[in-house]
This record gives sequence, structure tokens and C-alpha cells, in this order.
Amino acid sequence: MIKNIRSPLVYYPKTVNEMLSLYKSMPDSLLYAGGTGILASKNTKYPELPGNIIYLRRIEELSAIRRSEGYLEIGACAKLNRILGIGEHVLKPALYAAIRNIGTKEVRNIATIGGNICSPYRTKTLIPLLSLLETRLELRKQGSSRWINVRKFVSPEEGLHEGEVLTRLRIPFNNFNHQSYIITGDLKSDYRGALTFACLASVQKENLSAIKFAAGIGDNGIFRAREFEEALSGRKLPLYAITEDPVFARLTSALKNQSDEVSSFHSRQIEGLFLTFMHSLNDML
Ligand SMILES: Cc1cc2nc3c(=O)[nH]c(=O)nc-3n(C[C@H](O)[C@H](O)[C@H](O)COP(=O)(O)OP(=O)(O)OC[C@H]3O[C@@H](n4cnc5c(N)ncnc54)[C@H](O)[C@@H]3O)c2cc1C
Repeated sequence: MIKNIRSPLVYYPKTVNEMLSLYKSMPDSLLYAGGTGILASKNTKYPELPGNIIYLRRIEELSAIRRSEGYLEIGACAKLNRILGIGEHVLKPALYAAIRNIGTKEVRNIATIGGNICSPYRTKTLIPLLSLLETRLELRKQGSSRWINVRKFVSPEEGLHEGEVLTRLRIPFNNFNHQSYIITGDLKSDYRGALTFACLASVQKENLSAIKFAAGIGDNGIFRAREFEEALSGRKLPLYAITEDPVFARLTSALKNQSDEVSSFHSRQIEGLFLTFMHSLNDML
């Protein structure tokens, strides 16, 4: 024990029920998964931690990864590198790139997907894509459980209620045959200003049958432009000079409507990233 600092008590539950019951009896305790987010948020030599810590990673059930017919189910404590090990052909390019972009190989060897989703400390670069993929989260507390989609989970009114723990997520498989995932800005020096952009499109012959994209800026939630996406879906490719197409005004107005969250700088970035994606679709034909 360091002078004047009491060592925290660490609990190592082996089952989800044991963990939920501990958490109910000590709601102020800290849930500790990989610890990369927790420790990176403390910049003192000896990080100050609460008196009680519940260590999650000895609960086998929380690390399970299963493939079912419609979705990939991942336990909250699955490490990022283990998820990458499933392979890009299953995860698909955008999700693979999004996970691979987090930290370094060493960080991903410890960090968990649940810690990423629940982290209150910094911009979460997986969230916009998980939301676009319509990922659902299982939140459990002693005596009850609920499923919630990622978009709702990150809204200010929702998220984790007292005593709740994220236990697993379900990511539906998708057939988007063109995918892009990009982060702009410097996550190290100014991660709140960084922009995460994910775009998915389904192209059959020369038909753009579906397209959707999401952008996350700092901690300001997720930007979507659904009307614009719907208006573009079904159009014939190539689509040149799209900025002069009346449909583009729907993107511009969606960005204007959210000008409190999306600065003009980020609006231009979103437009630019979207246009780059459209060019890549045109170029493939
Ligand atoms: C060098 C470096 C680079 C990083 N780069 C990125 C990046 O590019 N993008 C990004 O998004 N993050 C980044 N991070 C932040 C962090 O490492 C990741 O978000 C990581 O996935 C967190 O997982 P963890 O298991 O370490 O979480 P922990 O640090 O253990 O926990 C994080 C928070 O989530 C809570 N928590 C953990 N698991 C659960 C659960 N199952 N239910 C409820 N609450 C839970 C904890 O109580 C804590 O508040 C980086 C960190 C470092 C050190």
C-alpha cells in the first residue's frame, strides 16, 4: 500500500450471477475488464481507484464468441485481438478495420469490446459502425435483463442503469459488398475532434440497391442522414457530379439541422468522405 492510499479490494467472480450479485451489493464498485480505458484515463503515477473493484475477465461466459445463422454474438469481455482472429471474411472489412484501428496490438491484446462500448472516458471509435450495423446489446442486472440497440444505448437518456452490466452483443451479418471505415484527425492529441466515418453500400450490377453511413464526432453522438440514404438507394451507377444532383441537398440540410453537434469543419469532412466513397463506387464499374 502506498502512503495514504488504501489498496482497493478486488473481487474475482467466476459466473455472471455471482458478479451481478456482487455489483448489486456494492453499486459504487468499479467494473474492470481489460483496464486499458480505466488506466489511460488516470495520469497519476499511482492511479486512484475506488475501494472495490469487480474484475470481469475470469467469467468465461463473458468471453464467448458464437456464430448463429443471422448474427455474430460476442461476449462483452472478448478481447479485441481475439475478435479480429475470427477473420475479415466473417467480420467484413469495415468492422475488421474499426477494431484493428483501436490502440496498438498490445492494447488490443488486453482491451475488451465491452470496455470499449461502456467506456465513459473518451471517444469510442467503434460506436458509429456498430450502430450502423444495428448491433444489439444485452444489459443485465440482478433479476432482470434487457436488449437495447447501440444507437439508443449512447443517447443521453439511455445507457447503463444502476447495477447493469453489458454482457454480450449481437451483430447481424450483412451483405454490403462495399464498405469503408475511416478516422480523420489525431486520436492521440485531440480525440474529441476526431471524426469516425463508416459507409456501407450494396451494388448489384450497376444498381446501388442500398447505401448507409454514420459519422461520430467526439462525444457528440452519431450523425445519420436517412432521407438522403433512402433517396440514393435504387439509383443507377455511375453517379457523377452528385453534388449538383437535387438529392445532395438532403445531405446538406441534414448536416445543417444538426449544426449544434456537427461543426461546419466536420460537415465538410463528412461530405468529402461521402464523395470519396461514391467515387470509389463509380470507379469500380
Ligand atoms: C494507447 C491507447 C489507444 C486507444 N485507442 C482507442 C481508439 O482508437 N478507439 C477507442 O474507442 N478506444 C481507444 N482506447 C481506449 C480503450 O483502450 C478501448 O476503448 C478499450 O476497448 C477499452 O476496453 P477495456 O477492456 O480495457 O475497458 P476497461 O478500461 O476495463 O473499462 C472501460 C470502462 O468500461 C466499463 N466496463 C468495462 N466492461 C464493462 C461491461 N461489460 N459492462 C459495463 N461496464 C463495463 C469500466 O467500468 C470502465 O468504466 C485506447 C486506449 C489506449 C491505452
